[in-house]
Amino acid sequence: MIRDLKAIVNIETPSTEKKLLDQAADYLVKYAEKNLSCETELIENVNSGNNVSLRIGKDTVKKPLLVLAHYDTVWSKGTLSRIPFSVSDGVARGPGVFDMKGGLVQGLWALRSLEEYGKQDRRIEMLITSDEELGSDSSKELIETRAKISEAALVLEPSQDGKVKTARKGIGEFSINVIGKAAHAGLEPWKGVNAIEEAARVILFLQSLNRIEKGTTINVCTVNGGTRTNVIADRATLGVDFRVASEAEANKLVKSVMSIKPNNPSVKLEISGGLNRPPMQKTYETERILEIAKTIGLEFGTTIEDCAVGGGSDGNFCAAVGIPVLDGLGAVGNGAHAENEFVDLNQMPLRAAIFERLLEEL
Ligand SMILES: [Zn+2]
Repeated sequence: MIRDLKAIVNIETPSTEKKLLDQAADYLVKYAEKNLSCETELIENVNSGNNVSLRIGKDTVKKPLLVLAHYDTVWSKGTLSRIPFSVSDGVARGPGVFDMKGGLVQGLWALRSLEEYGKQDRRIEMLITSDEELGSDSSKELIETRAKISEAALVLEPSQDGKVKTARKGIGEFSINVIGKAAHAGLEPWKGVNAIEEAARVILFLQSLNRIEKGTTINVCTVNGGTRTNVIADRATLGVDFRVASEAEANKLVKSVMSIKPNNPSVKLEISGGLNRPPMQKTYETERILEIAKTIGLEFGTTIEDCAVGGGSDGNFCAAVGIPVLDGLGAVGNGAHAENEFVDLNQMPLRAAIFERLLEEL
């Protein structure tokens, strides 16, 4: 497993670099052809890296299970030279090792084990996508199509300190352009319309929409504007992130933001965006799968707990089409999207084994 993890971490896969992504997709197809006897499909993707589908088992009366993984990471090209793949004191480090190449390797080994020793009475499709870290614009439709015909989705995203994830907040974004008018800041500032002044008011309004007790958070995370210190700013752009626990909260928030009117009537506001990943809520069906996972955990002498998190994943899309989702079934470690990212190697075979048993028992 360490050898496989090293190989896939050593192919850098920033979500924006198609050439690199395609190399990783090719590697995964070759890996599957060599180590699995499944049907392998490289799904061409014009706008991002190619996606990979691995299908084991046969169609039976049981609906297929969908396993989700992504091979892109948030790390830009060249990160490997700064943070090379390394193993020491029972942990592995390297870009994307925890989110989620560790989980990806666990999933591949679970399939290998299932093919070799397990009982297969249905079709299982593992979909490995290329742009999860950007919100899955190019693979969303593919994921939804496969989710609709599946019994449940099992997502190999990192665990939360070993806990699986049964609820995720919905995530959205807004981009707000504030358009004013430039003028000389000293000679005739009254002829200008300061976009930054208006942006400041909009920022304070947006921040006031936070409702932590309801699980709604909204934050202006980027601000750009102005040209020079002696020119009244004719433009400012705000990048806004929001998270919601329910669809109703999302609708309320989107309505409030979309109806913002400028304080200064000479300013024009262009507001775009909305909910990208709908919230994934814990359902009765999720609970049933969780109980099975817990029982399997006990077989291996470990306790499986669940939690709700603020971060989204492709699990959100599957929940939105109405199938149960158990997420966070991947690596145990810490530091997703952070410099100290690591994966606990001792947990990798254990988690792969639990995952393989889950594929059998569902
Ligand atoms: Zn991830």
